[in-house]
Amino acid sequence: MPRAYRTKITVSLALASAQVNVYTAIEKEAGNTIVCTGKDEQHTHVATQIKQTRVCPVPDCENSDPATFRSVAPTGDGGGVLLDAGEREAIKKAAAEATKDRIALTPHPVENVRSSTIPSGSVYWLSAQPSIGWDHLVDAMARHPEVAFLGTWSPQGKPNLYEFRMFGTTMLMVQVARTEAIKVEAQPAPTLLDAFTQSQMDMLVAGTTKDYDPAVYVSEFETKMAELVASKSPEETVVLSTSKSGTKEAAPVADFTASLAASLAAVGEDGKPKARKAKTKKEAA
Ligand SMILES: [Zn+2]
Repeated sequence: MPRAYRTKITVSLALASAQVNVYTAIEKEAGNTIVCTGKDEQHTHVATQIKQTRVCPVPDCENSDPATFRSVAPTGDGGGVLLDAGEREAIKKAAAEATKDRIALTPHPVENVRSSTIPSGSVYWLSAQPSIGWDHLVDAMARHPEVAFLGTWSPQGKPNLYEFRMFGTTMLMVQVARTEAIKVEAQPAPTLLDAFTQSQMDMLVAGTTKDYDPAVYVSEFETKMAELVASKSPEETVVLSTSKSGTKEAAPVADFTASLAASLAAVGEDGKPKARKAKTKKEAA
């Protein structure tokens, strides 16, 4: 069994509850391991990892010349293979080149994709110049929820996998973990419950299902912070200076969290205006 991220967490649905352990579902991507093998050919030592300090920790070496450091490709057994300077970057660059500015989408049955990929990493939303091509993309995506549209993109010199889908009328690209990076362990099939127990759970689910209300899921921390901020006296207000010059006028953004917090604050018990948090956030942007 892998090491759990957290243990003994209780998950409950009304009276049905269970204790679970929580595991990381995605293999952490191997970073670029930098090693020193000695500052020159006369002074060599076993490959030793260079940490943030950028100085070789080997006594009598203390090499700090990055040009002499080597990169290591991990071989999965805790060891690795020494790479020459630039070899890793060259492969990365070649792999990314075709998908840096161009994403070719491929449709797949959604159940294939759901059973072979899981969400991971970044989520982006897209805007587009009005065009027939864009209309086609949006129309196909909106009318085909049975299809998952996958594409590869290299925002940072490395091809990532994304699923494209609609969120309302806006297109999202949601990064997904590739099948080989998923380390989810299949759990035993659930015990089949008897018909009576099942009908009880069906009644429970039907009886407690209600429309999704964002207010129910508002972060309690954010709400308490807004209250705390509103309770401070004007003397405790500061203006933050930024080193950025030439501040551009930001495009209007529908900040749902801020507007929700503001509307919640507006109905505060004491009736005082409590929109200061949202204002501060806007000013800082
Ligand atoms: Zn060294």
